[in-house]
Amino acid sequence: MAGGLNFSYSKLGLYKECPQKYKFRYILKFPEKPKYYFAFGSALHKVMEFMYSAGYPPFPELEDVLKFFKAEWDSTSFEYKGYADAAKEKDGFLEGARIIKAFYEKHKNDNNPPLSTEYKSTVNIDGLSVISIVDRIDYLGGGRVSILDYKTGKTVAREPDQLLMYQKLMDNNPRLLEMIRRRDPAAKEAKISNMLFYYLPTLEEQYLQPAPKERIDDFWAGVLKVAADIMAAKFNPDPGESKCRFCDYRALCPVWAPSAKDEALADGAARNAAPAGPMEELSAKIDACGAALAAADKLKQEITAIMAKNNFTRHFGKNYAAELETINTLDFKDSQKTLELLKEFNLLPKVCVPTINSIQKLLESGVLDPRQKQAFDALTRKQSEKRLKINKTED
Ligand code: SF4
Repeated sequence: MAGGLNFSYSKLGLYKECPQKYKFRYILKFPEKPKYYFAFGSALHKVMEFMYSAGYPPFPELEDVLKFFKAEWDSTSFEYKGYADAAKEKDGFLEGARIIKAFYEKHKNDNNPPLSTEYKSTVNIDGLSVISIVDRIDYLGGGRVSILDYKTGKTVAREPDQLLMYQKLMDNNPRLLEMIRRRDPAAKEAKISNMLFYYLPTLEEQYLQPAPKERIDDFWAGVLKVAADIMAAKFNPDPGESKCRFCDYRALCPVWAPSAKDEALADGAARNAAPAGPMEELSAKIDACGAALAAADKLKQEITAIMAKNNFTRHFGKNYAAELETINTLDFKDSQKTLELLKEFNLLPKVCVPTINSIQKLLESGVLDPRQKQAFDALTRKQSEKRLKINKTED
């Protein structure tokens, strides 16, 4: 059994997709590039929360909902959202506005206020600390609830895993009954009556009945197996043509390193390969570290260029903040002449030891008269350099 692991449905999904990718994302904490579909989905989720929590029913005025969406959308640049350019970002905005109007029209006369929106909980169970955010919980009476998850991508029949996870967590969350009793003090039990995926682009709903206990037990056994593998540091790559093609970590991935690439492609052997010896492992770590540093340098250059172009001095990712400083420095064309000038103007005692820094401080201190300043200006070159700092944001 796994113990003490912070877990979530998205972590489960990523590990199942590729354990090596999970390692890059959650163990090594290498950020992925922004994805426009996440930004699009996140903005629509916030709009849904706004509509359902602003004194519903009724919804706020449509005009106010659209204003909320626009403010949310405009709070970040197209690059930050992950769109290729401003035109594509605009298409995304128009599509979002279309969806909101259609949703509003369909549901404006509904009169069952949800029990909760964006319901965040952490449930400790079987040694796991599982975080979940349920998009909407509707109350159906008699202690029964409906759990809803909005989807903002294509309408395709989905595997119910996400809802099975919610069912397991809700069945083990005493706060659900407390929440129900605030609405319906007579409720004796909390019961999940149905679950649905709501596809916002088409307004279609995919209903699922709660799974029987054996199904939930099977599903949960799979979750515990994944958690145990993570705790045992089993992070073998699981390559696949389409997932690797779109993987942000491909340049760092051992499968695609020149030495491993051919074997991995030949027979997918990478995931079953015999464990490497300590020296090979060390070499692989050194190569992975070098590649990660090179990738980080490249990212820093790209971030600096985008921030400088937009005159940003601070900008935020989900977990990190970037600060761009402009450092002005002086360069002395002829150090001997600079020294002579200091002597000539009797300024040597003011700098104690004549270094670039001490002389720069003197020139910036305002004690020089115009003639002295002009003489030094003729000997100096002003330089300006951008310095980027990336720091973890507070949790
Ligand atoms: S490139 Fe492929 S194998 Fe490597 S981490 Fe990404 S998905 Fe996994």
